[in-house]
Amino acid sequence: MEKKIYIETYGCQMNEHDTERILSLLERSHYFETKHAQEADLILINTCSVREKPEHKVYSALGRFKWLKEKKGVIIGVAGCVAQQEGNRLLDKIPYLDMVIGTHAIPKLPQLLQKMEISGEKVCDADFDPEGNHLKTILPRKPLEQIKSYVTVMQGCDHFCSFCIVPYIRGREQSRPSREIIEEVERLVEMGVKEVCLLGQNVNGYGKGLKQEISFSDLLGRIDEIDGLDRIRFTTSHPKDLDEPLIRAYSDLPKLCEHIHLPFQSGSDKILKAMHRGYTKKSYLERIDRLRGACPSIAVTADVIVGFPGEEEKDFEETLDLLQEARFDDLFSFKYSPRTGTRAAQLMDRVEEKVKQARLSLLQEIQKEITLQRNQELEGGVEEILVEGLSKQSHQDMTGRTRSNKIVNVEGDSGLVGKLLSVRITKAYPHSLRGEILGSESAQSLFCRRS
Ligand code: SAM
Ligand code: SF4
Repeated sequence: MEKKIYIETYGCQMNEHDTERILSLLERSHYFETKHAQEADLILINTCSVREKPEHKVYSALGRFKWLKEKKGVIIGVAGCVAQQEGNRLLDKIPYLDMVIGTHAIPKLPQLLQKMEISGEKVCDADFDPEGNHLKTILPRKPLEQIKSYVTVMQGCDHFCSFCIVPYIRGREQSRPSREIIEEVERLVEMGVKEVCLLGQNVNGYGKGLKQEISFSDLLGRIDEIDGLDRIRFTTSHPKDLDEPLIRAYSDLPKLCEHIHLPFQSGSDKILKAMHRGYTKKSYLERIDRLRGACPSIAVTADVIVGFPGEEEKDFEETLDLLQEARFDDLFSFKYSPRTGTRAAQLMDRVEEKVKQARLSLLQEIQKEITLQRNQELEGGVEEILVEGLSKQSHQDMTGRTRSNKIVNVEGDSGLVGKLLSVRITKAYPHSLRGEILGSESAQSLFCRRS
């Protein structure tokens, strides 16, 4: 009998991708997605615990669904980072919760669900899977409607930055065999996918521990050869491990898009040291210079944390200075949030909340102006876009992304979805660009122009 699953997702691309995996896995157990919680037989919250705010959202989301448990007996589960972190404690805290599915337990979800349905008992699986089987993707059987897809290449992290919970909830670095990844990309291309985004908490660590070790840049080279694929992206790369072969890939591989997300976290060497990041402000900026040397049109985005313990005004000024020097295309900025179990959570010299907020607001104000300027630099120029779907702003417009990952809205209809178009940029806004279609163009021909 057909049943319905409603799923809410918090956090990063890894979680978004886990949600896609859960949906295609459960389709095989006759659970189909609904966008309305009231219709669901199963409600899952796929959670994030990287900062306190998304973690709190999980508890308020659960509160919203309690009445559905009481009225309809719906099954309620928590998956992802909070599930991994809390395990059985979560079942004790939330009496109406039925399932806890840790970050490595996703492939076991159908069996866990069956066990729960048969026995009526609550289930919890927050074990780590040392074999790495949890990384396999179960592809949908029908052609995909979307033209972009995530592909996990590795998971976990060995870096243990002092503020970060990821190594504790995603485990140590585990890579998927390259053959498996390539087969997955080939299958996705057969299903209509034009662009893949390779996912890993630290993609530079790709290949470690595999029987046939290959580097991340070698993997990119192999994926670049897949016929029918137009674009490759990846996230996230750690500045400490950004090596020359990866920098060279930007000038050598036609399908690798000109965008890198390279979190810097702070511009102060004192804070970077306390964070255990393994680079300095100077060496970070040198890496950006090398990337721009190899690929002048590359867009660079980053993450930054303000208010890490011990951050003084002069440290924050170093961060602002880095912003002006690097001139990022976009920036994701966060207030430091202490995470239990991490080394930084034990540091006592905490920055006051109102100081953190003031620093965050000032930094965001400065970056907003830089982002607009970076976008304005594209006005009058020609960009290749891959059309993704209807624009959110106007239903007369279609929306796509440049190779540098900027949103461009153009006049058109749904017949353009999946097409690579050449567009002239007519106007820049803080979060998007306006373009006018010049024609269809192949990725390779535009690639020749990128330097
Ligand atoms: N692996 C990536 C790296 O090292 O650059 C980052 C992955 S992490 C899931 C995403 C971002 O969340 C980080 O780059 C950092 O800016 C932010 N973040 C992680 N822990 C945080 C914390 N305790 N407080 C505030 N922001 C945090
Ligand atoms: Fe967290 Fe990224 Fe540091 Fe790993 S490299 S510990 S994921 S911030």
